[in-house]
Amino acid sequence: MTKFRAKLTFILILLIGCSMLIAGIFMAKVLENSHIKSLQDNMERELQVITATVDWNRKGTDAELISYYTEQAKHLKEATHERVTYVRADGKVLGDSDQRPEQMDNHLNRPEIASAAANGVGYVTRYSDTLKENMLYAAIPVKNEAKETTGFLRISMSLEQVGKSIRSLWYFLISGLIILFLIAGIVSYRIAKGITYPIEKMTKVAQQITNMNYQSRVPAYSNDEVGQLGQAINRMSESLQQQMARIQENERRLQGVMENMMSGIMMIDREERIMLLNPAAEYILGFSSQELLGKKYNEAKQQYEFTKLIQECIETQDPIRDEMVFYYPAERILDIHLSPIAHEDEEWSGVLIVIHDITAVRRLERMRSEFVANVSHELKTPIAAVKGFAETLLAGALNDKETAVSFLQIIFDESERLNRLIGDILELSKIESKRIPMNFSPIYLPEFLERSLSVLRKEAEKKHIELSMLVDDDIYIEADEDRLRQIIINLLSNGIAYTHDGGKVKVRVEPLDMNADGDYERLRLIVSDTGMGIPKKDLPRIFERFYRVDKARSRSSGGTGLGLSIVKHLVELHKGTIRVDSEVGVGTRFTIELPVIH
Ligand code: ADP
Repeated sequence: MTKFRAKLTFILILLIGCSMLIAGIFMAKVLENSHIKSLQDNMERELQVITATVDWNRKGTDAELISYYTEQAKHLKEATHERVTYVRADGKVLGDSDQRPEQMDNHLNRPEIASAAANGVGYVTRYSDTLKENMLYAAIPVKNEAKETTGFLRISMSLEQVGKSIRSLWYFLISGLIILFLIAGIVSYRIAKGITYPIEKMTKVAQQITNMNYQSRVPAYSNDEVGQLGQAINRMSESLQQQMARIQENERRLQGVMENMMSGIMMIDREERIMLLNPAAEYILGFSSQELLGKKYNEAKQQYEFTKLIQECIETQDPIRDEMVFYYPAERILDIHLSPIAHEDEEWSGVLIVIHDITAVRRLERMRSEFVANVSHELKTPIAAVKGFAETLLAGALNDKETAVSFLQIIFDESERLNRLIGDILELSKIESKRIPMNFSPIYLPEFLERSLSVLRKEAEKKHIELSMLVDDDIYIEADEDRLRQIIINLLSNGIAYTHDGGKVKVRVEPLDMNADGDYERLRLIVSDTGMGIPKKDLPRIFERFYRVDKARSRSSGGTGLGLSIVKHLVELHKGTIRVDSEVGVGTRFTIELPVIH
């Protein structure tokens, strides 16, 4: 039982008990009075009956009268059980049922007699000296035919009897009160419970809401103020639940954004502690959030310049944008924005740092400008040659027929080279920009390779190079046919170009990851030659644009330095890989691995 309920029960019991007690006492008093009143009425009636039944105006001597009336009084007492006294008008006692009248003094001044003489009836409660107890006396005057008072008739009864009946009345009343009190207790408890139960329930619900259990509801009670309070709590809880759901949803969304965005986000609070770090920031900075979160920005492990930048932002309270090179965990170029977070009411509440990894962007920019420089350079050489020889011809060499022909041949070769160069550059930029969609179709490799080889056969024969292929009968691949041919022809023509007379160039196909049913997921294409090979130091750069091991050698072979770069791009478009192994003077081997199905 709660304190409130106990208090309420106590107050109710007290209220009910007190009012019942007061009502009980009042009732008992009323009952006692009415009891005495009815007793008096009875006595008066008895007195009237007695006056009517006996002749109270007898003549005779005092002794005769005393003997007669005493006899009558005793007689009457037998019937009424009450003391009967007859007093003559002068106060002399003529008869008494309990006492000898001769021994009794004059009764004219007895209050009941005096009252009877004055009012027609007199009642008095008094201690009787004669009987030694409290007695109730009632007296009326006795009259003759002439309506003169000839005497007084008095009866008295022991108050012991009256007390007894009043006491039993009290007992009855008290036991009734006790029962009523018990009932009042139970009723009070029930009433208190009826009032406090909904309040207790609401308190419980409010506590649960405090503990973030927003599903908790107050049951519907009544439509009174308590019921309305319950409804208000329910509405409050509902609105809290909705708001919490909205907040959680927002938090989830924000979390999703933070976790999935490419930019690194870091937040520093007013105490200069790192209080937020998204996965991108962890990755870029190379430290996990466990290592950084909660730490002071200048105590956490990180690049010194970065710390300085944050410090500057905190000190100046101005947004800062800077580009910075980080060397840990890998070399990166980062674009860093720092902005102080300010709320209306406060001066500032922290710093928001957004980090973009612009390494790739910068590298691309560098590559583009290098590419432009390379292209201009590559174009300049053949153009200079064409221009130079044309000038010489114009200056007079035309007259010497033999020289003129050889110069024109050079001009033709150089313009041819220029054409090839421009063609390759266009091709490369087309592939790089991925403008042309891939056109995958199943290719039967033995036939496809045979046709590719036949294109180069003439060239190989010129240098007495043996061109061969090794491929199983049932090998298919899904690929863009034109591009696959470009790959093979590029590699084979390189092989022919960089192999001495009498050498060998081979192409071989091997299925990879073959299972028991003879199905394979990948294919390996190997183009190998017995040529001059590539020095080790050049191997890593071989696929770069315009990279040539030996400019003179390449030029004599008519190469542009773009072939392998194109090949690599085409292989990647097929989701494949390419690698090169080579030994100077022994030969070179290009190995391509391609998935069979796209
Ligand atoms: P190029 O048009 O000059 O041949 P590539 O990109 O095809 O340009 O090749 C780049 C360089 O790689 C060539 O200049 C050459 O030095 C070297 N190279 C390519 N293939 C071979 C090979 N099979 N054997 C030896 N060197 C090769």
